[in-house]
This record gives sequence, C-alpha cells and structure tokens, in this order.
Amino acid sequence: MKRLLSVVLILLVFLLGIGLFGMLKGKNQPAAESSQPTAEPTSEPVSSVEPTEEPVIEETPEPTMDPSVFTDTNSLLVVANKKHRLPEGYVPADLVSPEIAQVQACTMRAPAAEAIKAMAEAAAADGVTLKISSAYRGEDYQRQLYNGYSASYGTETADTISSRPGYSDHQTGLAADFVEQDGSMNGINFNQNFENTDSGIWLRDHAHEYGFIMRYPKGKQEITGYAYEPWHFRYIGVDYATAIYDTDVFYTFEEYFGVEGGDYAD
Ligand SMILES: [Zn+2]
Repeated sequence: MKRLLSVVLILLVFLLGIGLFGMLKGKNQPAAESSQPTAEPTSEPVSSVEPTEEPVIEETPEPTMDPSVFTDTNSLLVVANKKHRLPEGYVPADLVSPEIAQVQACTMRAPAAEAIKAMAEAAAADGVTLKISSAYRGEDYQRQLYNGYSASYGTETADTISSRPGYSDHQTGLAADFVEQDGSMNGINFNQNFENTDSGIWLRDHAHEYGFIMRYPKGKQEITGYAYEPWHFRYIGVDYATAIYDTDVFYTFEEYFGVEGGDYAD
C-alpha cells in the first residue's frame, strides 16, 4: 500500500508539473500572438499625423522679449523716455566719432557710428548729403540744456522741447539729430519742415535699412512723450527698425515693443 501511495503521489506531482508547465506555456503563447494583430492598427493612424502637423507649425509662439533688453544699457533696445530714466550718470563705454558730416564734433556708440557711416554713404550715392548736429549728450550737458530752457520758458515748456537729465534718448549714444546741409538753422532745421528736405525724405524712406528709426513720429506725442521730430533718428538694429517701418512709416518704438511712454509721471 505504501509503495502504491508513493507511486500515485509521484505521478500526481509529475502530472501537476506538466499541468503547470502547460499553463505557463499557454500564458506566454497567446500573449505573443496577440502582439502581432495590435501592431497593425497602430501603423495605420500614422497617415493621420500629417494633417495635424501643419497647424502646429503655424502656431509657433512669438519670441518673448526679456524685459531687461529695455533697461540694460548694453542693449541696442535700451529705452530712454519720460517713463524710463537711464542709470544715474550713465556714460556709454564705446563712444567713437562717427564718419559722417558734422556741424560740431559728435560721438556715438560704436555700432551706431558704424551704421550711420554706411547710411551716409548710401545717401551720398543717391545724391543726398546727410549731416548731423548732435548725437551723444552726457547727463551734465543735458542738465545745462534743460535748465537753460527751464529758466527761459518755464518747466512746462522746457519739458516739451528738451529732456530732463537722465531721460534723453541722446544719452544712450544711439541717437542723432540730422540737419539739412544748406538749410538755415532757424528755418528748416529742428523744425517740422525738415520732413520736406532731401535729407528728411531720404531718412524717412531709408533709415530703417541701416537700423535707424524715426524716434518721434508724426501724431504720436501721447505715446512717445514728444512732438514730431522728423530729424531725430535712433539706432536699434536693422531687423527691428525694418519691422517697425514695415508696420507703418510713423509707427513708434513704444507701440511695437509695448513699452510705456508718454509724459513724466510727476
Ligand atoms: Zn534729438
């Protein structure tokens, strides 16, 4: 009996072993087979990926401007207007004498000086002589100018014709005032009639090609803080200058970049 029992037990264990082996095998096999049919459906929707790709490209987000480009004095987009003061006593480190006709000795930041030279050469090729009267102005000189106007006409009037020290676009070293070579100083120059001179017309139409924008366009005093100055141009680089010009010939820096402008806060 004992022997029979042990034989039965061994058989049972053996059968159980086969059964388990079969179950494990059975488990693996269907799984392996089922992976094949699922592979096919996944390959089909590939074709439907293509139509969704195009809108994704069109929705490319606009590059976001780091706001520091408007306050960093090394940036070509540094802002000086009645809402944005330059750092106290700021003097650009790369001032040079631009190679262009000048009423008096002027200096500008190196990239602006290089661009204004190329611009003067292009204008000359079109028969127009560009000449500047003022470019970089230091904070102390601006103080003298502003205080002079203030003493003569009062603060309110001074604010409309001159910047307070620290707030002048000229202190960036990236701006220049142009004069008509043969115009009288109290007639055409520093007067809105400058827009009708050869220089005024050429600058309005071509300055952006050299990276300059008309900083105080016509009808934008509420936005820029200054009345129309068809003689004052500011270097910001060709790409941005062209983008602003292409929007509108009298489009402003403040509108394009969404920078606050207008009058002084106080
Ligand atoms: Zn100016």
